[in-house]
Amino acid sequence: MRALICNPPDCEASIMVLYNCANCPGYCCSYPVIPLTKRDVERLARHHDLSYEAAKAKFTKEAHGHKYTMRRKRDEIYGRICRFFDTTERRCTIYHARPATCRSYPGQGRCGYYDFLMHERRCQRDDDFVAVTNHDED
Ligand code: SF4
Ligand code: SF4
Repeated sequence: MRALICNPPDCEASIMVLYNCANCPGYCCSYPVIPLTKRDVERLARHHDLSYEAAKAKFTKEAHGHKYTMRRKRDEIYGRICRFFDTTERRCTIYHARPATCRSYPGQGRCGYYDFLMHERRCQRDDDFVAVTNHDED
C-alpha cells in the first residue's frame, strides 16, 4: 500500500502516525484476501477503461465467502501479492484507483507489521531485513 495510504489527507492532524510505508516491502498487499466492493470494481473499470464485467473478470475472483477479492500473483518476498503491486519498486501501481480497504488500512496511528518489522531489523542489526513468520527452511 505504501506511503500515502498510511497518511491520508483527511487524517486528523492530531493523530501521530508511527509507521512509514516507504520502509516496508508492502506486507499488507500480500494478504490472501483483499476484499472489494462493487464500487471498487467500478472504480477499477473506469481507471482501466474497461467494462464492469471485463474488470471484474480480469482483476477479481470470488473466494473465501467474498463475491470479489483481488487476484494475486507471485512475489519473491511474501509468496503471493496483489496483482497491482509492483514487485520491483515495492509499491501500489493503482494508488488513485485502489479499493476502499486499502485506503483505510491499517487504521490510525500504528501498523502492527511495521512494529514487528522495525523490531526485527533492530534485533538482526540489518536495516533491510524482511520480517516474516513462515520460517520453513532447515
Ligand atoms: S490495490 Fe494497491 S494498495 Fe491495494 S493491495 Fe493492491 S497493491 Fe496494495
Ligand atoms: S504493512 Fe503497514 S507499513 Fe507496510 S505498507 Fe502496509 S500499512 Fe504500510
